[in-house]
Amino acid sequence: MSTYTVNGVTLALMQGDIVRVEADAIVNAANAALAGGGGVDGAIHRAGGPTIMEECRKIGGCPTGSAAPTHAGKLKAQYVFHAVGPIYRQRGDEEQLLAGAYQSCLDLAERYQIKSIAFPSLSTGAYGYPVTLAAPIALRTVVRHLQQPTGLQQVLFVLFDARTLDAYKHAMQKLHDTL
Ligand code: ADP
Repeated sequence: MSTYTVNGVTLALMQGDIVRVEADAIVNAANAALAGGGGVDGAIHRAGGPTIMEECRKIGGCPTGSAAPTHAGKLKAQYVFHAVGPIYRQRGDEEQLLAGAYQSCLDLAERYQIKSIAFPSLSTGAYGYPVTLAAPIALRTVVRHLQQPTGLQQVLFVLFDARTLDAYKHAMQKLHDTL
């Protein structure tokens, strides 16, 4: 685990399975239909049980670049924030949409007054976003948010494999040098 402090808030990068992490909110890498899928999404619905999908069906969908909240079923969390990152197609709007997906989760965290949130690496699995490009966008969005007044005390990035963790560590080091 690599830990940083931004404006008194802990920002940690760790390798692991996000469904095993304890946080007030766990972020899902969802699709715009909130219809379920593989990767993080499959793991969250499997571990959290069917109530999460029932809530997703009622919500009906979520635009790319934003996030929708549900309760967290059997997970060790109060909420799941279903964030819809962009599919990487090199259309030029990916960066803004990826940052928007992270920012929407941070805004939900403030609205629900939660203290801790765990993110996976949005869009870098099935959605094909190169992790070396996505990691600095994810971290910059979070760090900028934490530089403003916030109720958050802890932000975790839970990264599934060593290569993804390395990309985030590298990006965080570069960003940290500029803080
Ligand atoms: P997307 O469709 O947004 O690309 P994916 O779920 O396919 O989302 O992948 C996003 C990232 O999450 C990838 O780095 C993938 O390896 C990782 N991942 C898959 N399962 C888990 C899990 N249980 N916990 C944390 N990260 C996971």
